[in-house]
Amino acid sequence: MASVTVENYVKTIWLEQQQTDELIPMGRVATVMGVTPGTATTMAKTLNKAGLIRYEPRDGLRLTAGGEELAMHVLRRHRLVELFLVQVLGLDWSEVHEEAEQWEHVISDRVLERMDRILNFPRVDPHGDPIPDASGALPEQDGMCLTEVSEGKAVAVSRIVDQDPAFLQYLDRVGLTPGTELEVLGQDRMAEAVTLRVADGELVTLGRAAAAKILVTRSGS
Ligand SMILES: [Zn+2]
Repeated sequence: MASVTVENYVKTIWLEQQQTDELIPMGRVATVMGVTPGTATTMAKTLNKAGLIRYEPRDGLRLTAGGEELAMHVLRRHRLVELFLVQVLGLDWSEVHEEAEQWEHVISDRVLERMDRILNFPRVDPHGDPIPDASGALPEQDGMCLTEVSEGKAVAVSRIVDQDPAFLQYLDRVGLTPGTELEVLGQDRMAEAVTLRVADGELVTLGRAAAAKILVTRSGS
């Protein structure tokens, strides 16, 4: 079994790779891992030797197929644990990410598959993030950013791309959790604001930076 450090690097590199098709620069790796450039380089050599990444000393790195497989396994554990903590143990969705950061490294395949079955083979976690299946395949998602929805359109919240507990608690308070429906009333580019009508008819105004962290899909109606 891979060490906690190796799993954290591979998972974080995978998440970074979702933003770009280029090699991830070593400076970026050091920043997101919160380590010095020297430490990141030492780790890159180790991961390269283990066949988990392709490392180009001057340009950066990317996961190999083996690295991606490990990343999917860690992500599957993390996201199933989050859903388990919310649905079965009743924890708040704003506090499960930190818990899952620990569980994702220790849970056995046997327990994981049992959780999957109890949760009825879910495709998304409490934040709307897709859960890789047992073979490592990631369910497809067709969400768009709330800032891109035209005025007058009805949509449903599908995913929140920020794990900050305070932000998640705020979304809870204003009624913007995955699954909830809303109507976009205004996209004010000058004020950098998005105005919404949420399910109970209340109006909510978000700054564009906050709205950009909310993904939505077209509503059924
Ligand atoms: Zn999480």
